[in-house]
Amino acid sequence: MRAFSIAVLLLMLPSVGPLSGQGRVGVDFEPGLVPIVEGVWVYEGALHLDGEEEQVRTNSLVVIDEAGIVVVDGQDSAEEGRELLAAIREVSDAPIRYLVNASPHGDHVNSNTVFADAGATLVGHVGTYEAMTEVRAAAGETGPARPELTFEERMTLRVGERRLDLHFLGRGHTRGDLVVHLPDKGVAFLSELYFHGVFASVSEGYAEEHLETLRRAMELDARWWIPGHGYVRDQTPEELEAGLLRYRDNVAAIHHAVANRVARGESLEEVLVGIDGDLGAFAELPFYGYLKESAVTGTYRAEVAKR
Ligand SMILES: [Zn+2]
Repeated sequence: MRAFSIAVLLLMLPSVGPLSGQGRVGVDFEPGLVPIVEGVWVYEGALHLDGEEEQVRTNSLVVIDEAGIVVVDGQDSAEEGRELLAAIREVSDAPIRYLVNASPHGDHVNSNTVFADAGATLVGHVGTYEAMTEVRAAAGETGPARPELTFEERMTLRVGERRLDLHFLGRGHTRGDLVVHLPDKGVAFLSELYFHGVFASVSEGYAEEHLETLRRAMELDARWWIPGHGYVRDQTPEELEAGLLRYRDNVAAIHHAVANRVARGESLEEVLVGIDGDLGAFAELPFYGYLKESAVTGTYRAEVAKR
């Protein structure tokens, strides 16, 4: 099984296309709502990374019906959550029914309390609840509100005419990643399982599982594959799908390179230096310098632990 998966990864590597400049996140950018299909929007928020001039966008899915609104993933702070709410109020007065946390990370949950105060029920995977509980304990029992409604595998939310299937398909970027599928809209929101146009982020050591989770996600019937970070505005469905395939190949390349070097007995320091030459065009992606060390370190520890 293991030899087979390595062979599959090798086959995937030559499919790397042009990467530089794809979905660049940009310096001059105004957060705002991007229409996807009728009743479905993506809010692109700004996410500033320490020491980086360019921004990685943090994307929230906004599903609107006269009967109510569902938001999937919030923003990095209460203030940015209020900006997201204000943008929603420019297009709809319907009540905010649910906020789904598709990742437990702060840049997606730090505005939770704003949405709870606005009347939303918070929903998330049990892994997200646990991860947020650990962060909360480490912070002296302070932090954003946690999901009140949790599940392990699948939940369907219905608001008016809208249907959202929440799928936990395995770990990836975190232990609580959700894929939110709108089957009658042809939309799949992948949250942090997919960053568009930037180097892959697999710091928690689930790179190999991430590939399997993405494989399962791609079995869903969707035309629009929406990333949790990176560019959505002005992108065609074809460009977003191509970006997803590149992201999968990027995760595969990291896992393949680190697993090979661990098998050769290299130290973490040796892998961090040597991997630059293993990653080909992926090493030219935006935020490679920012994300490489955490991706390699997390994947290295996971590979060593398997031995
Ligand atoms: Zn994030």
